[in-house]
Amino acid sequence: MDLGIQGKWALVGGASKGLGLGCAKALAQAGVNLVMVSRGDEALQASAKLLREHGVTVLTVAQDITTTAGREAIFSVPGGPGQDFDIVITNAGGPPTGDFREWGRDEWIKAIDANMLTPIELIKATVDGMAARGFGRIVNITSSAVKAPIDILGLSNGARSGLTGFVAGAARNSNIASRNVTINNLLPGAFETDRLRVTFEGLAKKTGQAMDSLIQARKKVAPALRFGHPDEFGHTCAFLCSQHAGFITGQNILIDGGAYPGSF
Ligand code: NAP
Repeated sequence: MDLGIQGKWALVGGASKGLGLGCAKALAQAGVNLVMVSRGDEALQASAKLLREHGVTVLTVAQDITTTAGREAIFSVPGGPGQDFDIVITNAGGPPTGDFREWGRDEWIKAIDANMLTPIELIKATVDGMAARGFGRIVNITSSAVKAPIDILGLSNGARSGLTGFVAGAARNSNIASRNVTINNLLPGAFETDRLRVTFEGLAKKTGQAMDSLIQARKKVAPALRFGHPDEFGHTCAFLCSQHAGFITGQNILIDGGAYPGSF
């Protein structure tokens, strides 16, 4: 399928690995030019090099996207579109696992900064330009934990729920929705990435169980009986960014192999 977005510019956060890289790859395959962001430069350069094989322009910004300075560097990267992105994928890695009794204000502010305020700042910086140009696609990578919260992911459950509420309102702003600009959240279940491994390490530490048996048990939670692959996530993301998805906005789309048991 031709996604109709060849030549557009996308900003992809957390793009050197995992789900962000899955999105960046699917967008590159659709002919979209990229600004890829992660803190570490080595993996970022390696991933960017692979994606340039699709014949698109790929710029890299090795910065912490949760900081004001990091976002300024993204919007001023030489050769980039400034703030005139057509597509924005917000993603910044997830907060640590733990027991809520151990988290103080600092831990909460860090989680809220990364998983709620950073996406809101990125939306604020780009959405009016998208509306003026008559095309925009914003996809926030959140978590299935927004719909089905997980005990040890309390920081994630809380911060991402704040973002979800904000997006539900902002996406329906008539100056945005009527101008072919959509804002949606993609909710991953269990995907085979570094982040999932770290979550299992936290669980193994808390429960004293072996990591392998935890992993096998977790795979059985989804009727698909497996973890998702970042490429599957990326293709769904690219479809939401396509010309064909202009009537889908303000939605929370689960990709979890059927793990969530509800009808809606
Ligand atoms: P991952 O494999 O650990 O990759 C995270 C990516 O984000 C890396 O490229 C990392 O590179 C980058 N990153 C992290 N913090 C950053 C920051 N402050 N600024 C810029 N880049 C940053 O994680 P993932 O599994 O793809 O997860 C992506 C998101 O989905 C996370 O928020 C995670 O909590 C959520 N999620 C994942 C799953 C899953 O099963 N994988 C399930 C539910 C939710 P650097 O470290 O070099 O910056």
